[in-house]
Amino acid sequence: MLPILEIKDLKKHYAAKTGLFGRMSNTVKALDGISLAIEKGKTFAIVGESGSGKTTLGKTMLRLIEPTSGSIIFNGQDIMALGTESMRKLKTDMQIVFQDPFGSLDPRWTVRRTLEEPLRTHYSYSAETITKKVDEILEVVGLTPQHALRYPYELSGGQRQRVGIARALILEPQFVVFDEPVSALDVSIQAQVLTLLQDLQSRLSLTYLFISHDLSVVRYISDHVGVMYLGKMMETGPSEQLFSNPLHPYTEALISAIPQPDPDKRRERIVLSGEVPSPRNAPSGCVFHTRCPKAMPQCSSIQPEWLQVSENRYIACHLYNN
Ligand code: SF4
Repeated sequence: MLPILEIKDLKKHYAAKTGLFGRMSNTVKALDGISLAIEKGKTFAIVGESGSGKTTLGKTMLRLIEPTSGSIIFNGQDIMALGTESMRKLKTDMQIVFQDPFGSLDPRWTVRRTLEEPLRTHYSYSAETITKKVDEILEVVGLTPQHALRYPYELSGGQRQRVGIARALILEPQFVVFDEPVSALDVSIQAQVLTLLQDLQSRLSLTYLFISHDLSVVRYISDHVGVMYLGKMMETGPSEQLFSNPLHPYTEALISAIPQPDPDKRRERIVLSGEVPSPRNAPSGCVFHTRCPKAMPQCSSIQPEWLQVSENRYIACHLYNN
């Protein structure tokens, strides 16, 4: 199947001041050569520790952050070539839901006003049509017209996240980025929201990019997974294969840390030494070499290439160089 969205060699580099009085400058590679493809109707999850570039990737794919270079192909169209007006129209097809629903909702607005706003911005619907669309989307996300009268502080965390999802879906997008959508919620509410997302995906044929640091959640919801570290993609592959047979030493370490109730399925925990280095001072060669239990002499000086190791699996690691 052709991908609905494909990115190739996507980079976002910043110049950062360093040293005493900020006299020296350094290049921060927030994203450094990311390539991936997402099939229509599927969920591609991005995992990695804090500072890996997951959120920057999600925002850059929607051009909420302008990339330094690379291409973003959506439905066969290079969106990097689009002007402001074409991009504004396309944004109805590409939406984002943020982690903190309280922070992303205007506290002075009722739920109805929050949901009406995107419709008023992008279309010239009649007041009657807008009311109907708001009532419909509330029902789709499991809320009632009574919720439309409330302000964010009058809602529970789960209800606020449902409003965040409704606000993204009211424009009938094809592709939605979810940036840690359940990590601020209690575990029982997390399960309800994840079930809702799966239900909406099959009902509305949606395609998701799902960003999370929680591998248990990713395992539950994803079809395909990409593992990021310090702005680079370490490994991508179908979820089932990646979780049952992780290839990259970083993926192996992350997966070994997932709590496993079945003692027969428990892996030996791989504890990584040290902290994630600062993106302002990323290691040379393989960016993971300072923490990799399998590092070899060449890893500190030579950057591994992005290699295809089987039909759907890609990896950046010298262990797989023939
Ligand atoms: Fe480890 Fe070397 Fe592979 Fe990097 S390239 S993950 S340091 S073995």
